[in-house]
Formats: sequence, structure tokens, C-alpha cells
Amino acid sequence: MICPYCGFNQNNVLESREAEDGKATRRRRVCEKCGKRFTTYERVGSIDLRVIKKDGRNEDFDHKKLARGITKACWKRPVNQDQINEVVEEIEMKLLNRKKIKVPSKDIGVMVMNRLKKLDEIAYLRFASVYLDIQKLEDFEKILADAKSNKS
Ligand SMILES: [Zn+2]
Repeated sequence: MICPYCGFNQNNVLESREAEDGKATRRRRVCEKCGKRFTTYERVGSIDLRVIKKDGRNEDFDHKKLARGITKACWKRPVNQDQINEVVEEIEMKLLNRKKIKVPSKDIGVMVMNRLKKLDEIAYLRFASVYLDIQKLEDFEKILADAKSNKS
């Protein structure tokens, strides 16, 4: 396991958590060299998780693709890579716990939006605008209104 920050290959495990079905383990690690913390995600065997896209086609769930989408939304926002990774892992873990092999991309989008809303409002709006394919200002205003009304 290589540290994503400095590339060093020695680290200690701080915490392990297993997905309910035991197919994956999430480990919180600390690098022995730079001391930064990161999370790894280990799968037992292969996980068949397919994402059903809007057009009906489906593709393998892609951890990196999800992380990229969230990273883009968080650009120049006070959200660090660690937090982004955590969101991705949480979502992946939730999906694995569903025991369903096929997941609509819409469901994943909603999960990301719910998480981002708590993390950073601007990142949330960015993700929502891309994800919901917003073309008009009024659609965007609708999301804004929803975001405001959901706040307690
Ligand atoms: Zn390191």
C-alpha cells in the first residue's frame, strides 16, 4: 500500500471496517514517513457492481470516475482530497451493502449530492448542475430553492 501523498510504502492501520456482506474492507492508514492519513479500500474477490446509465446502458462501477466528478465539483473549495475520498468510499460502501448488482446512476448522483450538501454548498451546486444537466437559469434556481428549504 503506497502513500498517496509521498509514495512511501510503509504505513500503519488505524482502523478497519468491513462492508456488511464482508466483500470489502475499508482501512484508515497513517503513513510512517509523512504522517498523513489516507483510506484504502480492499475488495475480496471481485465485486459485480454495474451502473445503469440514463440511456439504459450499463457499465462497471468506476471508483475513479466517481472521485473525479466529486473532485471537479470541489475545485478551489475548502474540501480536501481526504474528504473527497471519504465521500467516495462511503458511497461505495453503501452501494455494496445494498446487495443489488445494478444501481441506477441517478441513485449514485443523489447520494453524492446529499453528501456534498453537508460538506460544501458550492461544490453541491456545481455537482448538481452537471449531474442534473442544468441548461436554464430557472432550473438552477429551483435547486437553490430546494437546497435552502432543506436546511433546518
Ligand atoms: Zn506519506
